Amino acid sequence: MRFAPSPTGFLHIGGARTALFNWLYARHTGGTFILRIEDTDAARNTQEAVNVILNGLRWLGLDWDEGPVSGDANGPSKGDCGPYFQSQRKENYRRRVEGLLSKGLAYEQEGAVKFKMDRAPIVIPDLVVGDVRRELTDREQVDPDFVIVRSDGQPVFHLVNVVDDLEMQVTHVIRGEDHLSNTAKHIALFRAFGVEPPKYAHIPLILNIDGTKMSKRDKGASLMSYAEEGYVPAAVVNYLCLLGWSPKNNREKMALSEVIEAFDLPQILRHNARFDLTKLIWLNGEYVRELGDDRFYELAAEALTRAGLDLKKYPAEYVKAALETCKGKFKLFGELPPYAGFYFKEEIEYDPAAAQKDFAPENKPRLARLREALAKLQPFDADPIGVTLKAVGQELGVKAGVLVHPTRLACCGNPAGPSLYHLLAILGKERALQRIDRALARMG
Ligand code: GLU
Repeated sequence: MRFAPSPTGFLHIGGARTALFNWLYARHTGGTFILRIEDTDAARNTQEAVNVILNGLRWLGLDWDEGPVSGDANGPSKGDCGPYFQSQRKENYRRRVEGLLSKGLAYEQEGAVKFKMDRAPIVIPDLVVGDVRRELTDREQVDPDFVIVRSDGQPVFHLVNVVDDLEMQVTHVIRGEDHLSNTAKHIALFRAFGVEPPKYAHIPLILNIDGTKMSKRDKGASLMSYAEEGYVPAAVVNYLCLLGWSPKNNREKMALSEVIEAFDLPQILRHNARFDLTKLIWLNGEYVRELGDDRFYELAAEALTRAGLDLKKYPAEYVKAALETCKGKFKLFGELPPYAGFYFKEEIEYDPAAAQKDFAPENKPRLARLREALAKLQPFDADPIGVTLKAVGQELGVKAGVLVHPTRLACCGNPAGPSLYHLLAILGKERALQRIDRALARMG
């Protein structure tokens, strides 16, 4: 099995799903998963574009098994080899073209090399869509031959794709349905090389929820947007598994090991899959809820760091305690920076609408009285903070909420957030009082 992306600088969610299905099938069958970068188009080919693919696959956890060893004298080990780059395999293509030319199966025309295409219709035995009979188009009836090496010496996609699948002994090609129209050419090339073509499984496209084609600009089209928005990789993998494949029992949340066990090509659905962001967010929420502590902190730290917060300035115990108050409060880690960023900033900003209301002049003496009571509190823990706040409320003859709102806004800048008593305790007396003082000063 292989994933053979062209480095375009963008990893489409459909490409990621193609990679995943190949990987799953390799893991299910005990086969090999190859990553091959189809980078013969030198103009578009940059290291950055390759990195988009590598980072995307690594983020999803799709490891590849084979390829040239990268530098390490200790020999190949998992994750240490590959991928293959077509740009490094030009000699193979040249040799194969020589072979076709010498057998009269290809010919030169105006500096290019053209392949003598079969005149008869070709039947593609596809594992997903069934047998597809490919007739020649009107234009192909006039001249079905196609270029395999351009006049500038560049080998063409059809040729390099087939030569590599052949030399890498690829047994199954799982790829997007958009390639079905190329497959007759590929089968003809395999036959010309005297080799049985691999088995093909063309998977239906991913559409937007409204049934329109998913373009680059549509929300959710770029795999890396999921990393940026703080999805749990395992949740995205789980969702992608269900996008065009269905286990018989209609289950949705499945461990990857279960998917590997159950994954097979006949269950790939023949109709186009619709991308349902609401369902993905729901599934992500389920994964967030079940994360172990370490992974929760890791993903939380990633999201906060990405938002420009420097967690390293704070003691590990403080970070942990702060994040503990955020558990169960969000579905995407991308929600965390606005929710909990106040723990990791020295200067917070106030939500303007809330400030207008909660920092009203009549609240100033109330907040000042609470500040005084909190300053005397020892230890500064959640429970005694709660008791103090209620006692001050009683003393002033106001409901607890009257004190809660301005205090919360003073300390976290938002009208909503983690439990107030806990967040005050975590901020610590000194920092909490400083924030209350700053709010009091602002209250005029
Ligand atoms: N480079 C092709 C693409 O990105 C690969 C097609 C294939 O999987 O054979 O669409």
